[in-house]
Amino acid sequence: MADQRLFFALWPETEVREALLQQLSTDPQVKGRRHHPDDLHMTLVFLGQLQGRKPACIEQAAESISGQRFELSLDHTGYWPRPKIVWIAPQSTPTPLALLVDGLKQRLTACGFEPEQRTYKPHVTLFRKAQRISPWQLTQPIQWPVKEFVLASSNNPQPNQSRYKILQRWPLA
Ligand code: ATP
Ligand code: MG
Repeated sequence: MADQRLFFALWPETEVREALLQQLSTDPQVKGRRHHPDDLHMTLVFLGQLQGRKPACIEQAAESISGQRFELSLDHTGYWPRPKIVWIAPQSTPTPLALLVDGLKQRLTACGFEPEQRTYKPHVTLFRKAQRISPWQLTQPIQWPVKEFVLASSNNPQPNQSRYKILQRWPLA
């Protein structure tokens, strides 16, 4: 765990993952690297490496959150030129999601992390190292009932293998 990058995230179950995979194959104009199917996720808070900070504190932070379930409606895609990613996102951030992210950030600050100051923009990366695309709207948004959040780590990617590993899961009420 010590030398891995850690992050809290939402991980889609089979049904949502398959709908996302369909979006990956929808648009032939996209030139970029697809995520491995098992790697599709929505980051909540990025932690980075532990660097002496305590895994127990992270676990306690997640444990002490009393988050509520919510539903995401992923309805549009977009492109960020700096990280060169094509993403899919909901039109707005449901309040329970914003509370979950804020709650985690607050607790993680007490663990010695310096969470992102920029406004949280929920998104699922579809393509990495991608060329600019014309964003598209989904005629049928992907409905994602969110029932848990996870702590995940980045592994050194091998070709055709997943780059992330789910370390632990916490249910939402
Ligand atoms: P790589 O960096 O090796 O290309 P990656 O970006 O997918 O791969 P990580 O950098 O470990 O892997 O990031 C894990 C997750 O956290 C990804 O969803 C990534 O977009 C997100 N992330 C990474 N850095 C930040 C950051 N500074 N702020 C917010 N989210 C981040
Ligand atoms: Mg990265």
